Amino acid sequence: MARGAALYGQRVPLRVDDENENHALLYYAACTRCRAMMSTEPDILAACWRCGHPQPADRRRQATVERRVQWRLLEEVETETAQGRPAPEWACVSCGRFNPLPDATCANCKRTKRLAHSGPAQQR
Ligand SMILES: [Zn+2]
Ligand SMILES: [Zn+2]
Repeated sequence: MARGAALYGQRVPLRVDDENENHALLYYAACTRCRAMMSTEPDILAACWRCGHPQPADRRRQATVERRVQWRLLEEVETETAQGRPAPEWACVSCGRFNPLPDATCANCKRTKRLAHSGPAQQR
């Protein structure tokens, strides 16, 4: 059951630049009060991370920025990096900033990498 165990654990959304149908998109829009970039997903962010302004309803339609990401198990990616693979950047689910893999928190909004939204359920 070792293979199955690998499906569980902390997932992080990693930056990808190539087109691939397996990639996910994260959506962001500027806060209407302070203009900070914030996730349009209410289950990720109910209010602006910077000024606390509540999310308007149906915010997804107002998204102006997309981040193309691939959800990966953090442990797996750290192992690959330790073996010499180039370290990818992770996308902050809250504000959209790309951060270096070793950074535990977002340099912009301070959200922790390990509490990142776990992403859509993956069927295997
Ligand atoms: Zn704000
Ligand atoms: Zn952030």
